[in-house]
Amino acid sequence: FPAMVLNNHKSLQTIMGAPGVKGKKVTAIPKDGLTDFIRSVVISEKQELKEPFYVLDLGVVASLMDNWTCNLPTVRPFYAVKCNPDPAFLGAMAALGSGFDCASQAEIESVLSLGVSPDRIIYANTCKPESHIKCAAAVGVNLATFDSKDEIEKIQKFHPKCALLLRIKAPDDSGCRCPLGLKFGTLPEEVVPLLQAAQSAKLTVLGVSFHVGSGTTNFSAYRTAIAAVKTVFDAASRLGLPKMHVLNVGGGFTAGLDFQDAANSVKSAIQEYFDNEQGLTVIAEPGRFFAESAFTLATNIFGKRVRGELREYWINDGVYGSMNCVLNDHATVNNPMPFACTSNRGNPACRGMRTYCSTVFGPTCDALDMVLTGHQLPELQVNDWLLFPKMGAYTAAAGSNFNGFNTAAITTSLAYSDQD
Ligand code: PLP
Repeated sequence: FPAMVLNNHKSLQTIMGAPGVKGKKVTAIPKDGLTDFIRSVVISEKQELKEPFYVLDLGVVASLMDNWTCNLPTVRPFYAVKCNPDPAFLGAMAALGSGFDCASQAEIESVLSLGVSPDRIIYANTCKPESHIKCAAAVGVNLATFDSKDEIEKIQKFHPKCALLLRIKAPDDSGCRCPLGLKFGTLPEEVVPLLQAAQSAKLTVLGVSFHVGSGTTNFSAYRTAIAAVKTVFDAASRLGLPKMHVLNVGGGFTAGLDFQDAANSVKSAIQEYFDNEQGLTVIAEPGRFFAESAFTLATNIFGKRVRGELREYWINDGVYGSMNCVLNDHATVNNPMPFACTSNRGNPACRGMRTYCSTVFGPTCDALDMVLTGHQLPELQVNDWLLFPKMGAYTAAAGSNFNGFNTAAITTSLAYSDQD
């Protein structure tokens, strides 16, 4: 793992040369000036632009990697591509030394196309289609997770050189936004039969993975899960299997003040349960931590209705697009608050301006396509912009083309702000 405790400027220089970034226009954002940036650089320069777009702040990505490395220096991140597969973002993560958690053939191919070597990829989907396993074998992605006998049989048949991590169900996934335990992970009583099945299939189980649930605020869940991993390592040695040495602590991390607490829980549990473990490799599969705050979504208001004191607006992205996170990721898009940006009338969100109870709808013909209700906004007009910060995690990645509003067509503008 390249030591990436670089200062922000060096990290940025590294990112600028990354595939997906190199050769693209990257604009500096003045301090506290995202609204100005969007107004002056994107809106004013391209008055005709009305489509929604993302702003990816590469300075935020660099500083998140520094933050990760400072708090979890011995835990190598394998960024979970599913969270946001934007090519420039993946390129930045690759340049910063991250590995990648891929869940499918397409994700593997998109990471390899950046020039990342296959040994920096973990195929971390416990049940994989045969054709995708064959692809992993062909391109040399040789590490994958599993939690069932049928998966062992498929991997033995189509990728016998693949090393494995046994995914266990995290014993405690309370306190997370999206629990994963109903679908993924072995139960304690299944561990020994699965290890024996892997041994019979002549597949090597290098270690264990888990996921405490996405967006967790229950950091003791890492400790409980790491304790459970230790019991699997012990079971493997009792069975006389080759010594396990990989501990994959999965995802669940969120950037911000709480990250240090999550990191401390991971570190203290590793110290407690694996203190004497020679040659232990610890990895993680963070998604939200890196993607969420790096992206701001700019949407254009194309419709308005006034009903007494109520203001209703239509924007050109919604719950069938980027805001599918409201349904799929149990997210709210009002924390932090969206803010308005007009091209030529100054910032209407400034203090002291009268606000109205407002509803914001997405563009489709479904009444479910409602982004905000009962939200205080200044009086806005058709063609103004509404900006949504922290929109990088599980947003565009899962958007659809419903009603012809194509999420995949939303572009990304690259920028950087100085985070030092
Ligand atoms: N790893 C696996 C196997 C996942 O399923 C997920 C999310 O669903 C992640 C990592 C990323 O999780 P997060 O975004 O909570 O860090």
